[in-house]
Parts: sequence; C-alpha cells; structure tokens
Amino acid sequence: MLPAPRRDLHPPRKPLKSSLDKLEYNRKRYWGNREDNIRKAKEYYVENKEKVLKYQKDYVERYKEETQAYRKRWYQENKEKVIAKATKWNKRNRARRLEIQANYRNKNSNYIKSRNKEYRLRYRELAIEYYSNGRKIWACCNEKVQQFLTIDHIDGGGNKHRKLIGIAGGHNFYYWLKRNNYPEGYQVLCMNCNHAKGIFGICPHQNSDTTIPL
Ligand SMILES: [Zn+2]
Ligand SMILES: [Zn+2]
Repeated sequence: MLPAPRRDLHPPRKPLKSSLDKLEYNRKRYWGNREDNIRKAKEYYVENKEKVLKYQKDYVERYKEETQAYRKRWYQENKEKVIAKATKWNKRNRARRLEIQANYRNKNSNYIKSRNKEYRLRYRELAIEYYSNGRKIWACCNEKVQQFLTIDHIDGGGNKHRKLIGIAGGHNFYYWLKRNNYPEGYQVLCMNCNHAKGIFGICPHQNSDTTIPL
C-alpha cells in the first residue's frame, strides 16, 4: 500500500471557484517559484532545443494570418500613439537613430537601390498617367512609347521652378507633383518636343515655319 501523501509537502489545494481564481492561483505558483521555474525552463530548452524551435516555428506558421491581421488592426487602432512615441524616442536618441539608419542602409544597399528605382519609375508613370489624361498617343508628335514621355512645364521655366522648390529634378520632381496632388500648369510631352520647346520656345511640330531642315 502506498504511504499517505505528506501533507506538509503537498498541502491540499483549495478548490478553484472560477477562472479568475485559477489565474490568481497560477500567478502565485509562478511567482512563488520564479527562479526555480526559470531554471527549469532553461534546462528544458537546452535539452530539447530542436523540439522547442520546431514547435515555435510551427506555431508561427499556423497562426501567421491571424497574427498579421491582429498586428495590422492593432497598428491601425494605435497608429497615432505609436508614431508619437517613435518621434519622441528619435528626438531623444538622435545619434542612435542615425546609427540604426546607417546600419540598415549598409546592410540593405542592394534592396534599397532596387526599391528606389521601382519608386522612381512608379512616380514617373503616375505623373504621366495623370497628365496624359487617358490619351494613349501624345498629340504633339504621336509618340506612343511611355519611356520617351516626360512632364513639361507649360509656361516654361521648369528649371527655375525646380530650383525654387529645392529639388534637383527627375524623380524628385515626379514625387513633388504627387505630393502636391498634381497641380495645374503641366502637360505630357515627348523628350524631343520638350527639349526643342526648352531651347526654341516652341516645339517645331507646332509651327512648321520654325523647322530647320538638315
Ligand atoms: Zn513636338
Ligand atoms: Zn515629340
């Protein structure tokens, strides 16, 4: 026959009334033996590393969509708080922030380059799409290829204007257009027409008298 359990080692449990009691009970159990629990967990991890890692990996995989959805929802709900906190941190830890940025740039330079290129092309495309207003062929010279098109400052002075708003031109200009909700005063021209207009004031296509034959 088994000896009776030693009551001093195994005090009888109080019956658990509700899940709150249960929570409280577990909490006490954990904090009462915290050091011990941590040590045991560490030992278990060392002995069963592969098993634990596999379990974690499977868990992440299984709840991937739920986790993503939850994070997205949480971010949307707490967006302002998150941004305010990050801004505050960045201000206080300016040197560290710059260090993190520099590290990121060094580690991901290829990715950043290709992503920037993608963005530049996308902003260019968006501007041309907006200002060509659904026209597939550009009126001045019937240029049909998007890559040959550019955005022209209708009243001229594109360079001066770019200097005024402090951008070097090219992709920054396309981004500026987007940020300013595509203001009026711009049109699509092919590079040739745009170039000729810049030099001679009008594209020779528009006034055949000004055409200079070869
Ligand atoms: Zn032209
Ligand atoms: Zn043209």
